[in-house]
Amino acid sequence: KVERRKKPDWLRVKLPVGKNYARVRKLVDNYKLHTICESGNCPNMGECWGAGTATFMILGNVCTRGCSFCAVATGRPTEYDTEEPKRVAEAIKLMQVKHAVLTSVNRDELKDRGAEIWYQTVREVKKLSPETTIETLIPDVRGNWDALYRMIEAGQEVASHNVETVEELYRKVRPQAKYKRSLEQLTRMKEFGKRTKTGAMLGLGETDEQVFRLMDDLVETGLDILTLGQYLQPTKMHLEVVEFVHPDKFEMFKEEGLKRGIKYVESGPLVRSSYHAERHVNV
Ligand code: SF4
Ligand code: SF4
Repeated sequence: KVERRKKPDWLRVKLPVGKNYARVRKLVDNYKLHTICESGNCPNMGECWGAGTATFMILGNVCTRGCSFCAVATGRPTEYDTEEPKRVAEAIKLMQVKHAVLTSVNRDELKDRGAEIWYQTVREVKKLSPETTIETLIPDVRGNWDALYRMIEAGQEVASHNVETVEELYRKVRPQAKYKRSLEQLTRMKEFGKRTKTGAMLGLGETDEQVFRLMDDLVETGLDILTLGQYLQPTKMHLEVVEFVHPDKFEMFKEEGLKRGIKYVESGPLVRSSYHAERHVNV
């Protein structure tokens, strides 16, 4: 068991300040948008928002799932706002975002899993900001592949889906998800012709061997980009950190991933799947 206050030096980050940060803050509020940066209490907010970028979460801020690492509220979502795609696109235009990352809560209760809103959001962003590249971080569609294809046919440059952890920890970390189904989602995205990306958190009690096996399974899906970062407990109600993984170990995993055939690996304590995402467009 690791105490929160024992957070090592390499996880200490600067507080959010500055003009750009304030600008993003105001836009997010004015346009009634949700960001995973805030919901996830991301340690990189100072850097990302300071650089004028954020990860927008569409389809509301209530999720049908309750993953034990995630601070997004679980419940019956009520929001289905067909104006949301436009608002997101306008905010991205005003922010002059060069590379936008979009994600969403899980909407298991919707027959199309929210695919239409996904599609429209990407189209609207492309319409208002044709130069802006887009990554769509799509949740588990629970095997609804038609919904998935609708989500990824909108012209985004990167299609991602996070596996989050090794197979052995799924029941503990993502109880409503299935490891094999997430791998299939990545495979199908690849076969559709997308540049694919996934992310996993370390420090949840996984062994090195389990991480290597995860990497091998990801290579099988044809994966292009992998991000590995330290899991941080968002509140005391969430899963505890088992280990603060040393930066040298993150480096080791990076080399292993590349050796095993993943094209691009971003690995470090503060790495999040949307961190430095602009670098992943041309991989
Ligand atoms: Fe937001 Fe991602 Fe940056 Fe964190 S790393 S602040 S979630 S864009
Ligand atoms: Fe959080 Fe996504 Fe899990 Fe919902 S599905 S609880 S948003 S990680």
